[in-house]
Amino acid sequence: MTITTARLTTVDDLAVKPTRGLSGDPAQGLLPLARRADGLIGSVIDSSTSLLAAQSHDVVRFAMGAPAAETVPTEEFRRIAAEVLDSSSFTYGATEGEPGLIETVVDHHSTTPEPTRAERLVITSGGMQGLDLAFKLFVDPGDLVAVESPTYTNGSGTALGYGADILEVPMDRDGMDVDALETLVAEAGRTPRVIYTIPNFQNPSGTTLSEDRRRRLLDLAHRWGSIILDDDPYGGLRFAGAEVPGFRAISPDDPLVFSVRTFSKVLAPGLRVGWVDADPRLRKLLIAGKQTMDTCTNVPAQHIVERFVRQGGYDEHLAGLRAEYRRRKEAMDASIARHLGSRVRTTDPEGGFFLWVTLQGEDARVRTSRLFEIALAEGVAFIPGPALSPSGRFEDAFRLCFASTTPERTEVGLQRLARALDIAREE
Ligand code: PMP
Repeated sequence: MTITTARLTTVDDLAVKPTRGLSGDPAQGLLPLARRADGLIGSVIDSSTSLLAAQSHDVVRFAMGAPAAETVPTEEFRRIAAEVLDSSSFTYGATEGEPGLIETVVDHHSTTPEPTRAERLVITSGGMQGLDLAFKLFVDPGDLVAVESPTYTNGSGTALGYGADILEVPMDRDGMDVDALETLVAEAGRTPRVIYTIPNFQNPSGTTLSEDRRRRLLDLAHRWGSIILDDDPYGGLRFAGAEVPGFRAISPDDPLVFSVRTFSKVLAPGLRVGWVDADPRLRKLLIAGKQTMDTCTNVPAQHIVERFVRQGGYDEHLAGLRAEYRRRKEAMDASIARHLGSRVRTTDPEGGFFLWVTLQGEDARVRTSRLFEIALAEGVAFIPGPALSPSGRFEDAFRLCFASTTPERTEVGLQRLARALDIAREE
């Protein structure tokens, strides 16, 4: 079968429900899909990778949340691979993770405000598998899951795959609006099983949840018996402002805090190595849950990550990333000011990869899913707002990743985006 990607030019091409027109009576030529398959809605974010690969013209990529290629220590990985990979790297590993990597994660956190222990950890295939395990363990069909709005829809999409009802909670510059959460829960007449939050430099808004709100969320979680799903891939990438204590620092060993971590944003996403840090009573369940998915996380990748962190230089690597991402974020701010000016309002992240842009005035009438098509033709890509909200809100907004493009490319991208906005306004 040949897969034609050339047709992929609109968000709808990426967002169409994969079961549509496929599920039904085999006697009618359809396939007997499970009802669960209906919850597999696909990810516009992830699919943008194939979409961009299919373009034959030059496109400035503000879409995917990937680290800058230049920051990935490729040579170092190559050298380490030659040193550490042996026959033990190519057989099945322990489901919970390679002992050396678990120990490395414990040691690395011993001097941080969030120390941990081996019995709390399971190495996962990226942060995504940690999210999948969390929803698999805690969500029954019809359960309520509270998410930030906008949110990382791969996370909310995973909850939908397990049959969750999603409660979208508005955000402001301090992160999830906890008053609004209480009101919405009272209106819903039932409490959430899981409160899904990305506390630092949130994907997609770039905002950070304030300490006061973290404490209030913990109180609510205990009042309601909810799990706080603390998804923090970007916390190490703060380049401005003061550190905010994490859930695990505020409430050590809290059985209701389930933390998902990944090396994807600070080392490389292609490694697919992350970990879950959770109540030790869950460990056997997590292992059982992971065994049905992939037996173990890629062993060579675990050995490479272990050595990279062990050999020292990890903290310098992080410091280098923070400096570079600050430079790139400032460059994006400057290009936005030059080319879009008062036509947009943006968030002001103190770390991470993303900023969130909301169209203003006359431009607010432009639908960003349409703007996406025009922008793609003009040679620039972003993620439109509705792809970052389970119910398709934020037609007037979009996410830009400032991390993966150089300041020079960012400037070109913003020029093209301004042109695309002019064209969209004329329609
Ligand atoms: N959570 C958030 C908030 C993310 O931004 C990402 C990556 N885009 C993930 C989880 C998934 O991380 P990984 O690539 O390690 O699976």
